[in-house]
Parts: sequence; structure tokens; C-alpha cells
Amino acid sequence: MPVYHYRCKNCGYDFTEHQSFDDEPITVCPKCTEPTVRKVYSAVPVTFKGSGFYRTDK
Ligand SMILES: [Zn+2]
Repeated sequence: MPVYHYRCKNCGYDFTEHQSFDDEPITVCPKCTEPTVRKVYSAVPVTFKGSGFYRTDK
């Protein structure tokens, strides 16, 4: 089962949730109960160490 990473834009609460693909994404923060949670796509380990990967197409 994939683990989804969420972050609340209101209070900054950071949490992960085990959900299946059929589950609805979480939108309400379990901490401040505001509907300001959004999914952070970090289920796949991504590291931004060192050099490389700059987006210049601004
Ligand atoms: Zn919150």
C-alpha cells in the first residue's frame, strides 16, 4: 500500500498516510481541522543533495 505524504498549508503539520489508490485524498488537517491539506509527492524517495537538477525554464 502506498504511503502518501501530506502537509497542511495552514499550520504546517506534516504527516504520512497509508492509503490505497482508491481512497480519497485527505484534505482536512487532523491537527487544525482546516481543509488546507495537500498531498506532497514524496512517496518515492527524492533527495536534493548536491548539485544538479535546476529548472531554468522560467
Ligand atoms: Zn493544519
